Amino acid sequence: MSNAVMKPEAQTAATAPDEVLLELRDLHVSYGKTAALHGVSLSVRAGEVVALIGANGAGKSTTLRTISGLLKPTRGEIVYQGRSIAGLAADRVVAQGIAQSPEERHVWPTMTVYENLSMGAYLCKSSTEVDRRVGMVYHRFPRLKERHRQLAGTLSGGEQQMLAIGRALMSEPRLLLLDEPSLGLSPRMAEEVFEFVREINEHGVTVVLVEQNVHNALSVASRVYVYETGRVVAARDAAGLADDPELLSAYLGA
Ligand code: ATP
Repeated sequence: MSNAVMKPEAQTAATAPDEVLLELRDLHVSYGKTAALHGVSLSVRAGEVVALIGANGAGKSTTLRTISGLLKPTRGEIVYQGRSIAGLAADRVVAQGIAQSPEERHVWPTMTVYENLSMGAYLCKSSTEVDRRVGMVYHRFPRLKERHRQLAGTLSGGEQQMLAIGRALMSEPRLLLLDEPSLGLSPRMAEEVFEFVREINEHGVTVVLVEQNVHNALSVASRVYVYETGRVVAARDAAGLADDPELLSAYLGA
C-alpha cells in the first residue's frame, strides 16, 4: 500500500538498521485543565510493531491522538524521521507519512466501501492515483473488493475494521497508528484483523497499536510499553512481558 507496501524491496533498502522512526520525549498532554499524559517518553524503530497497553484511561489513545496532530502537547517533543512534528496540524502529519485508524472504526456508514477508501486519500488530487491505491488495498484485502459497492454500515464489525485500516493505508503511510483494532470483535475476527496487521507490517509499514487485551497485543507486537495513569511504567520485549507474571498481574490484571 504505502510505498513500502507496494514496493517492499525499495523500503527495505531505504531503511537503515535500527533507524528510530518515532520518538516521544517527555510528552505532556491535557484536556483543558485535566492532565492526561505526565511525561511520556518512548521510541519506535522502523519496521517494528509496538503495542501500548494498560488500564482504561491510562493515556494510550491520548498518545496516538497527539502523534497524529489531533491534540497538541503542552510540553515535550515528538520526533518523526529526525524532525519535530509536535503541534503540526493533522493533515500535515498525514502528509509526513503517519496515518491513524481511530478507535471505534468510524467508517462512514452511508458511503460505499470504495467511497470510504477514496476519502482516505483526500490529500491526493489525481483520481487515477486514488484508484491505483484503492486497487492496492483491494489486492491486500480481497474481501473489501468483493464488497466494493456495499454500504459500509452493512459490513460486519471485522470488515468495518479492515475498511478503517484500508482507509488509513490510502495515504500511503510509513507509520500506521491503530487504536483498539480488536474492539467489539469476536476472537476469530480479531485474529483476522491481527493477521492483516502482521501482513501490512511485513510489507514495510511500522505500526503502533493501542490494545486493551494483553494477549492480543503480545500476538502481534515485538515490543510493548505499559501505561499507568498517564505514564509509561514499563517497556518490554513482547517475549519478556509474557515471562513477567508480576508485571502482568500488577498493571494488567492478566
Ligand atoms: P481507553 O482504552 O479507555 O480509551 P486510554 O488508555 O486510551 O484508555 P485515554 O483515552 O487516552 O486513555 O484517556 C486518558 C485520560 O484522559 C483519561 O483520564 C480520560 O478520562 C481523559 N480523556 C480522554 N479523552 C478526553 C476528552 N475528550 N476530554 C477530557 N478528558 C479526556
